[in-house]
Amino acid sequence: MAFDYDLFVIGGGSGGVRAARVASADGVRVALAEEDRYGGTCVIRGCVPKKLMVFASEFSSAFQDAKSYGWDIKDAKFDWVVFRDEMNAELDRLEGIYRKLLANSGVETFDLRAKLIDANTVELSDGTRKSAKTILVATGGRPVKPEISGAELGITSNDVFHLESLPKSILIIGGGYIACEFSGIMNGLGVKTTQYYRGAQILRGFDDEARGLVAEEMKQHGVELHTGTNIMELKQVDDGIWVKATNGDEQVFDQVMFATGRAPNSDGLGLEDLGIELGRNGQILVDQYSKTALDSVYAIGDVTDRVNLTPVAIREGMAFVETVFRDNPTAPDHELIPTAIFTQPEMGTVGLSEEDAAEQEPIEVYCTSFKPMKQSFAGRSDRVLMKLIVSQASRKVLGCHIVAEGAGEMIQMVGIAVKMGATKEDFDRTVAVHPTMAEELVTMKTPVRTA
Ligand code: NDP
Repeated sequence: MAFDYDLFVIGGGSGGVRAARVASADGVRVALAEEDRYGGTCVIRGCVPKKLMVFASEFSSAFQDAKSYGWDIKDAKFDWVVFRDEMNAELDRLEGIYRKLLANSGVETFDLRAKLIDANTVELSDGTRKSAKTILVATGGRPVKPEISGAELGITSNDVFHLESLPKSILIIGGGYIACEFSGIMNGLGVKTTQYYRGAQILRGFDDEARGLVAEEMKQHGVELHTGTNIMELKQVDDGIWVKATNGDEQVFDQVMFATGRAPNSDGLGLEDLGIELGRNGQILVDQYSKTALDSVYAIGDVTDRVNLTPVAIREGMAFVETVFRDNPTAPDHELIPTAIFTQPEMGTVGLSEEDAAEQEPIEVYCTSFKPMKQSFAGRSDRVLMKLIVSQASRKVLGCHIVAEGAGEMIQMVGIAVKMGATKEDFDRTVAVHPTMAEELVTMKTPVRTA
């Protein structure tokens, strides 16, 4: 049977665009449908604008510290509207690049929603139908709010990049990546920032010592962080949004932001009618090659809720192309993924936390926490953390956790060594780069504890 295309991709985010481009460059006939903006969550309402906001927010402490370095800066003021418009212009530029990349690699695009009709057919929202030998679902995810009274009054990360004005005060709910990153951003931009997290400590799942330091530093920088606290009810009042918390607190905030997790965009795609299985959170269930229960339908990225990170979606897209179009079955590698949380200070992490490693085998823990030169000189009491988890048996570094300015950049490099199976002795043999914070990673001589 002749199909209109060899591959039809639904979703123009990081994963879908990469798979479409790479396949098309191989001579595969590819079409892609995107109902919203090209670039997806990462470019349009996630990583990219978030990082720009982190940069914007870091100037406040830089201006304060500049005095100690001899700079006389008067009347430094932040103008949200100027920044927001610059940021959105940058996103327009990036979206343009995404579109151009697709066009230049010969992918036919449809600015429409698509859903599956059968194993080889999609229907676009204008009613036209297209057939393809293979269909790739890469529709991403979306933020979700808890079902509580007044939840509609709160914003999510989708809305935060478009605010008319910066609020005077904000309550951020959640303790994951997004909540903690935006607490730092808002606080740095001068917004009175409160964060409620229902658990005992933010950033659940990460190394206890590292997340403990992030929490401490966030508080020291001015974020009012309440753990063991959740929100019960919201109401619009004259001077803002009234919030009742589980700890009995009642407060009014200018703005409330929910960062309470994300859900896969698997609704309304016709998946279940075709026998494609969804998991408990609505994620598309796939095998190690990203294939769904239907042989002709694959899924990658956040809609599969495996590891919800842009570079992982891209890897999954590349592995899909290898598997389906290059006759080279390739499972994406989800082991030892380095990641950074752009809190202030940043956290970079790869491999196992101390707690997870200790459950697995006997370990040595190497850890140092100190005042970094740059901030200490400016009179700050900020601390950073460098930590290695080492297997007693194999001597391999099982995990590395860094809390420091630039931790994201550092962990990318450490990630290579850890992925290669470097031992503690390999780290020790590496000469320190002086004076840096990261040099501590190669100069820690004695374990602080074994477990
Ligand atoms: P996460 O799943 O990381 O965190 C959700 C947070 O909300 C958790 O603290 C969770 O608490 C809390 N929560 C969930 N439901 C409720 C509820 N009903 N009431 C109160 N609190 C609730 O989601 P995020 O939205 O922060 O991020 C989504 C994903 O996006 C991340 O996991 C990550 O993969 C990716 N991401 C990556 C970034 C990066 O690489 N720097 C940046 C931003 C996002 P509990 O812990 O108790 O479950």
